[in-house]
Amino acid sequence: MSEPYAPTLEAALACIAAVRPAAYARTRNALDGAVSGLSPYISHGFVSLAEVLAGVAAHHRLDMQHKFVYELGWRAYFRHVWQQHGDGILRSLHEGPLPDSAYAAELPADIRQAQTGVPVIDEAVRRLYRSGMLHNHARMWLASYIVHLRHVHWRAGADWLYGHLLDGDLASNHLSWQWVAGTGSRKPYLFNAENVARYAPAAWHSPGSVIDASYEALDQLARQPGPGVAASPAGPATDEPLLHDSPPAALAATAPSTADVAGRDVWLVHPWSLGLLPPALPADTLVLGLFVDEFHWAWPWSERRWHFVGRRMAELADRLWQGDAAAIGAALASARSVRSIAEPHLDAWLPRWAACEPAPALFPPVNRHCDSFSQWWTHASRGLHSAADLLAVNEVPAW
Ligand SMILES: Cc1cc2nc3c(=O)[nH]c(=O)nc-3n(C[C@H](O)[C@H](O)[C@H](O)COP(=O)(O)OP(=O)(O)OC[C@H]3O[C@@H](n4cnc5c(N)ncnc54)[C@H](O)[C@@H]3O)c2cc1C
Repeated sequence: MSEPYAPTLEAALACIAAVRPAAYARTRNALDGAVSGLSPYISHGFVSLAEVLAGVAAHHRLDMQHKFVYELGWRAYFRHVWQQHGDGILRSLHEGPLPDSAYAAELPADIRQAQTGVPVIDEAVRRLYRSGMLHNHARMWLASYIVHLRHVHWRAGADWLYGHLLDGDLASNHLSWQWVAGTGSRKPYLFNAENVARYAPAAWHSPGSVIDASYEALDQLARQPGPGVAASPAGPATDEPLLHDSPPAALAATAPSTADVAGRDVWLVHPWSLGLLPPALPADTLVLGLFVDEFHWAWPWSERRWHFVGRRMAELADRLWQGDAAAIGAALASARSVRSIAEPHLDAWLPRWAACEPAPALFPPVNRHCDSFSQWWTHASRGLHSAADLLAVNEVPAW
């Protein structure tokens, strides 16, 4: 069997080739539904949204309203909100069912250790730790339970989940948590045992647990100030994998050094630009892989994610650097030229060091503030009827 989420372009292209849009639209809400598994590759720039859509549209006719196009839209929309709000996405965009101060700041140990006694939650946490991935519906269930039943602040849950995901993206993750919490959407997202029984395998079913209740009762719990439902820890504890704020030694990343780059043309590869190198790079360009300490101190990753990113980066780059922003900036100042691809995760630093090309876009730019996905979608899809129309906006070549 091939390695799940192998950090190669071939694996990303195989996921694109395997997309079956009709089955996707029919089954995507089920845990065993025909979802693409593309998000780690999209999050780390192995492939862009435009390349994904072009690859799928080469074999399947998709109209603009197709579920698959729509879901790609959610990712683009969250990036749009990030662009509008900057670091503001890390705070509640508006008040949810309760004020921020009504929620606990820490994620309880029984959740971290998959010991809540609610099968759907414990299964989700175990799967997350085992694979670094979680189906969208499972992420929604987990987030909803944490915020609305346990009254833990969405930010505590979002930071924890981000660290363990292979596809962790500050916009898609933190804004999805806000959408579930009701601080980025009009109402809280709630789910019950019946919903789980419909979309998840038997081991996840949770009859008789706290979520085996009507939506009215769950809504009341979500809006009732206080500590939330009591934990009823059950089963053996699962160890939470450690998170790391620097690359594994096996990657042999070195400290930034003037000697590496003095007088050279440099192309910077970062963890969100792991696609093909630009075809027009002059032959003597130094391809430098970069890990910026300040980012990873704030947002540590699982070992699995470090290996996923690191193996691909080592394949692309002549050498890898890890260092703080001051050391990187000082060393790069001696290069003849430095170029890279713009990336909001590195917005605080990258533009100071490199001339940044924009990341490839799929949707037309929406330059106004949109409060909801549907508002954004109305603007982003105006006058477009099919995936082919959408791809033509940015002249994405056909596959
Ligand atoms: C609480 C929570 C946290 C999340 N955190 C992240 C995250 O850190 N990174 C991330 O990429 N996605 C996140 N998502 C969105 C979504 O769960 C994943 O993108 C999806 O599960 C990835 O699986 P897939 O590639 O098989 O998706 P598919 O259903 O096959 O969709 C194809 C692609 O469309 C995009 N997409 C699909 N659904 C969504 C969505 N709801 N929001 C944004 N983009 C979407 C992704 O790029 C995905 O790879 C989160 C959702 C929730 C509810």
